[in-house]
Amino acid sequence: MKELLAVQGGKPVRKNFLPYGQQWIGKDDIKAIVKTLKSEYLTTGPKISEFEEEIANYVGAKYAIVFSSGTAALHAACFAAEIKEEDEVITTPMTFVATANSILYQGGKPVFADIDRRTYNIDPKDINAKITKKTKAIIPVSFTGQPVDLEEIINSAKRNNILVIEDGSHSLGANYKDKKVGTIADMTVFSFHPVKNITTGEGGAVTTNSKVLYQKLLLFRTHGITRDKNLINNSQEPWYYEQLELGFNYRITDIQCAMGISQLRKIDWFINRRKKIANKYNEAFKDNELLSVPYQEDNCFSSWHLYIIQLNLNKLKVGRKEIFEALRAENIGVNVHYIPVYYHPYYNKIGYYKGICPNAEFIYDRIITLPLFPKMKNRDVRDVIESVIKVLEYFKKH
Ligand SMILES: *Cc1c(COP(=O)(O)O)cnc(C)c1O
Repeated sequence: MKELLAVQGGKPVRKNFLPYGQQWIGKDDIKAIVKTLKSEYLTTGPKISEFEEEIANYVGAKYAIVFSSGTAALHAACFAAEIKEEDEVITTPMTFVATANSILYQGGKPVFADIDRRTYNIDPKDINAKITKKTKAIIPVSFTGQPVDLEEIINSAKRNNILVIEDGSHSLGANYKDKKVGTIADMTVFSFHPVKNITTGEGGAVTTNSKVLYQKLLLFRTHGITRDKNLINNSQEPWYYEQLELGFNYRITDIQCAMGISQLRKIDWFINRRKKIANKYNEAFKDNELLSVPYQEDNCFSSWHLYIIQLNLNKLKVGRKEIFEALRAENIGVNVHYIPVYYHPYYNKIGYYKGICPNAEFIYDRIITLPLFPKMKNRDVRDVIESVIKVLEYFKKH
């Protein structure tokens, strides 16, 4: 007799709900924040450039520019790439909407290229098929923290004279062929939302080796305004500043940057802990015919932002929805990353329909994200494993 599932009124594996992701805030982070609160500057003070220097050093880039969110950083990167009306930008549908939205903010047109069915990353072959004379940039996402095939993508970008902006919101600390992501693309965008690998509450950054792009990013962060005497026309009057472009207020506070500096000191430990948990999941599930564990390329080191299982629906009596609900009832905070961007009503309204990317749609129907964050206890990891096996075995076809 099989144990009754929680969704059917049985006893849940856990008493309390385990989220899929959560920040780790230590006493050191709190101390750093309080110290800044008591200092002279709350915003646009010394913590901004200190955090920028630390990020640049960490990824090995010449420049890092921090923003109020990852989305603001993406928008700024699209501005710096000079994406305008009529421009096409190739991106993946398997991402958070912000990636494609940042193209729309600039008046550009997102063109969705399909994903690879193994890595779930954008497929360089489909990028090549979708490059036209109007293509201005490519925005691949290093999905779940596994770097996208940057070399392939950069080679075709170079042949076509277009820029590559890596959305590295998942991949801070990841390696592509023994090199940290952050300098390989023309610009790399990071997010410091609480579920990401380090957090500032809200926040983001762009890293680049290009001085030209760096200056555009700086302008965009603060209304398009500069005080740089080399850039302004009226450099005679000492109070003078000029607005050269239409920018935004996308500044981040010193309070948040103090937190970011403190978080960055722990990043290697965070990623290590994520990897250990991922290995435990792999170990528990790798021979289970009811699901597939995340495929990993040999030449990459993932920063393990997400752990996604793929259900083998042929061997299950129910669909993803029933499995998802059953896991939630066991108090496991499973999630789905992501609903393909063009499924959203807004994208339908502007002319995108189902059917554009068959691989992304196939994968979307089968994926479930399991909880993964450094603060998880070994007990939590065991609860997730136990729940997944309990639910899948229950619904196994015979
Ligand atoms: C989190 C995320 C963003 C947006 O970052 P915010 O800091 O929340 O604005 C963009 N792209 C991807 C892939 C993300 O996961």
